[in-house]
Amino acid sequence: MSDHPAHAPTDVLVIASWNADLVCRVPRPLARGETLAAHAFEISSGGKGSNAAVAAARQGARTAVLARIGDDDFGRMALQLWTDEGIDHRLVEIAAGERSGIAQILVYDDGDNSIAVAAGAGLGLGAQQVQAAAGPLAACRVLLASNEVPAAATETAFAAARALPAASRPLTVLNPAPARALPDTLLAACDLLTPNESEVRVLAGLGEDAPVEQAAQRLLDRGCAAVVVTLGADGCLLLRPDRPPRHWAGHRVPAVVDTVGAGDTFNGALCAALARGQALEDALTLANAAASLSVQGRGALGGMPDRPTAERWLH
Ligand code: ATP
Repeated sequence: MSDHPAHAPTDVLVIASWNADLVCRVPRPLARGETLAAHAFEISSGGKGSNAAVAAARQGARTAVLARIGDDDFGRMALQLWTDEGIDHRLVEIAAGERSGIAQILVYDDGDNSIAVAAGAGLGLGAQQVQAAAGPLAACRVLLASNEVPAAATETAFAAARALPAASRPLTVLNPAPARALPDTLLAACDLLTPNESEVRVLAGLGEDAPVEQAAQRLLDRGCAAVVVTLGADGCLLLRPDRPPRHWAGHRVPAVVDTVGAGDTFNGALCAALARGQALEDALTLANAAASLSVQGRGALGGMPDRPTAERWLH
């Protein structure tokens, strides 16, 4: 159990995936049937939802995760991370007899990688667990999900948020990664969709050369209230119905250590800023800055800044 007082309101509630990232550093891709000595092996916390929750918490948001993990050592590692980061994990289900999610990652000397994900207990995160959290869900300011959690969980949560009175309902933010077909009902329940360049094209059913503006417009036409496309080193682009697109240039960074978790940092920082009432434009300025700091540190969590660091970087 986390030590959050029962009455503490939540700023950002993340319907979260969590994986143990099992990373082997090897010289090159393996041939079928081959065994190769690795230079190094590391285990770290991963999962887009959990990473984004850490980013939001480091930006000062009272953050909670709704997730499902196994009753194994990896599950205990997740609970320890959330405790250390001050994240409320009372909505996490520990599934007896199930294994926590893992990602088996091979990183090659040239920086490229291959990843196999076994989502484990995370696959069982469903509508029922979300419905049981109706109270906390109604009380949060921003609700964040990604496509790493089962569609039923996100759809149930976003529909529940939409059914609340407009003045008090949480903002809904969906990071549609990895890209998968989204029903119009879910798009219409999104206040903000945050794909990267390739995801926005896949979601719109367009080819890899299609302009991102055209792809985002298709998603707006299907009912989504606003689309933010993250553009890697080129920053991000905001598209809303009947307004010209607005671009935030990427920050030039002295050295990119790795971009793992850049999108998660962007989403978490964005939600934290929105939860404290910042205008979307200002929240995007912060998210763009926080994410550019994250690429200067190792791993998903290594470079994730706290709020003072992100604000110093902006000024
Ligand atoms: P990932 O899957 O690596 O977490 P993503 O594909 O979801 O990332 P990106 O569009 O690559 O998301 O990056 C998200 C944000 O991170 C960008 O909008 C930008 O703010 C920041 N960013 C990413 N790469 C760089 C970079 N090389 N320099 C500065 N900022 C960067």
